[in-house]
Amino acid sequence: MAGKTLGRRPWLALPAAFASHFVLDTVPHVDSHTLYGAAQGGPTAAEAGVAVGELVLGWLVVVLLTRSRSWRTMALAGAFCGIVIDLVDNVPPWGASFSAWPGTAWLSQLHHGIQPSMTADHSGCSASERNW
Ligand SMILES: [Zn+2]
Repeated sequence: MAGKTLGRRPWLALPAAFASHFVLDTVPHVDSHTLYGAAQGGPTAAEAGVAVGELVLGWLVVVLLTRSRSWRTMALAGAFCGIVIDLVDNVPPWGASFSAWPGTAWLSQLHHGIQPSMTADHSGCSASERNW
């Protein structure tokens, strides 16, 4: 049924991808700033490096998996919709504005409020692994 609905209205995959980010954020996880620290409220160099690496790797996987598929553009748009909330809510300098502006502050509060808090001790990484 979902496949039939998406077949007729493929654009529904975009809000579904956006919503899936919130579902996944409810799964207990360790945020990267917990592992790599926070420098003056912003990301550390290690955190930014890991985030960029994850973004490039994820994008590359989608590009490779959808090679010569007619729905590649939709898959890439869906991948973007799946990560856009982290990009607008967490990346400086606009992240601070996103969380402060009344039109989007509620979404930022929802985004951060649904994430179970885990400490670095629950990550399974040793202190030396966390501080590379
Ligand atoms: Zn998120």
